[in-house]
Amino acid sequence: MNLSDLIDSGRLAAGGLRDFAVGLASPSLRLGVTGLSRAGKTVFITSLVQALLKGGRLPAFEAHAGGRISRVYLEPQPDDGLPRFPYEDHLEALSEGETRHWPEGTRQISQLRLTIEYEPRGLVARTVGSGKLHVDIIDYPGEWLLDLPLMGMGYARWSALTIAASRTGPRLARAQDWHAHLTTLDAAARADEGQAIRAAQLFTAYLASCRDDDASLSALPPGRFLMPGDFAGSPLLAFAPLDVAEDASFASGSLGALMARRYDSYVARIVKPFFFGNFARLDRQIVLVDALSALNAGAAAVNDLQTALAGILACFRQGSNSIVSSLFGRRIDRILFAATKADLLHQTSHDRLEKILRLIVEEAANRAEYSGAEIDVVALAAIRATREARVTQKGETLDCIAGTPEKGETIGNQVFDGNTEAAIFPGDLPENPRAALDGSLEGHLKFVRFRPPLKRLETFPHIRMDRAAEFLIGDRLA
Ligand code: GDP
Repeated sequence: MNLSDLIDSGRLAAGGLRDFAVGLASPSLRLGVTGLSRAGKTVFITSLVQALLKGGRLPAFEAHAGGRISRVYLEPQPDDGLPRFPYEDHLEALSEGETRHWPEGTRQISQLRLTIEYEPRGLVARTVGSGKLHVDIIDYPGEWLLDLPLMGMGYARWSALTIAASRTGPRLARAQDWHAHLTTLDAAARADEGQAIRAAQLFTAYLASCRDDDASLSALPPGRFLMPGDFAGSPLLAFAPLDVAEDASFASGSLGALMARRYDSYVARIVKPFFFGNFARLDRQIVLVDALSALNAGAAAVNDLQTALAGILACFRQGSNSIVSSLFGRRIDRILFAATKADLLHQTSHDRLEKILRLIVEEAANRAEYSGAEIDVVALAAIRATREARVTQKGETLDCIAGTPEKGETIGNQVFDGNTEAAIFPGDLPENPRAALDGSLEGHLKFVRFRPPLKRLETFPHIRMDRAAEFLIGDRLA
């Protein structure tokens, strides 16, 4: 074990003791909410918290449906170093009548503490009386999670893998400008700051283009290049891959050495602190996945999503974080993968979407040789922006969805003004989930971005949020 491992273990032990002491005072559950940008984290947390606070309709959330929850309230969060999740602001954005709009998505880590007072079930109830559980929700960009594998590889290997990937499939066309600049760089030449910055800019533009709607690729580390959090503009992000062999080494003062030093700093100063300070202290995790966009973008996007999920599952694999587990006395024991925005499909396709995600997750788990925490899968909509509608067209009845498309959205040559309702046929998912993975759905689904619904009740309509709550929290309220 080298020195940095020891330091990290020390830091781990300190964090673990703190969590342990806090846990003695009152049980707490640290629930991580993650997913790539625009997967739906912000909307999910806002809707979940509101449903719990206001007693929304959650039939599959047993403690709630059975009337055992006596009180739910927000409390000051335990970690002073983390920003608070701005729940009230997000709720306001969604509730502003005619000017309602989706809140701004997650750009950095934040936290919210929800306290649930409940009556335990059966025998336990008679012996311990009422119970109290703190649920600490920790929202963070999935891009940061995809960085964790970087802890296990050096700069040269990362460079070689990243460049090899950029020469295949839909990445290649998007990498043209960056590749052109790459050919002008010599790892052995004298370090040049301007070259490093330019390479980082072009590399970042390539990553961003791979995230575009029509490509919808997922596995794009380093995550801070797309989601910098507090590190926007930092020299820690002024590096990029060079076209070198996996086992290359670099003479001091060379461009290669400068890039490698920055990469190592990125891992040491950004990736590791996030891993030890936040990720390793989670008890449960929900990973939100915009599976519909990937399915619609085609086989490369689905395959990339699977690679990203395999990378994520490798982070959760038992054994690989055994030091974490033994020092903390806690480890992630449940992971829920959720396909979001299910309201963009008719309800006849919700189970199908769930089956497709289950297959994607199973294959990713096989790839990652995963074993460990219990996994479940759900297709949900945190806030249902549409309702079901049947439309008869040329004698054929179609299962459609209806809602108010965002201003500027188009269907055929109709451009929406943000006030007019429309019913659209989004397309069906195949009954056999495997048929969805080969790219046959590419361009087949029709998606429109809908405005949030006009709020008529105290809580938002949703799809299957109760199932998510039951899996993530339910057993801790037994
Ligand atoms: P984040 O980047 O992961 O925090 O993503 P957000 O929660 O900000 O969601 C991104 C966008 O997805 C929102 O602005 C909405 O347009 C859309 N969205 C999120 N959740 C839902 C949902 O349940 N239904 C629908 N129709 N759209 C959603």
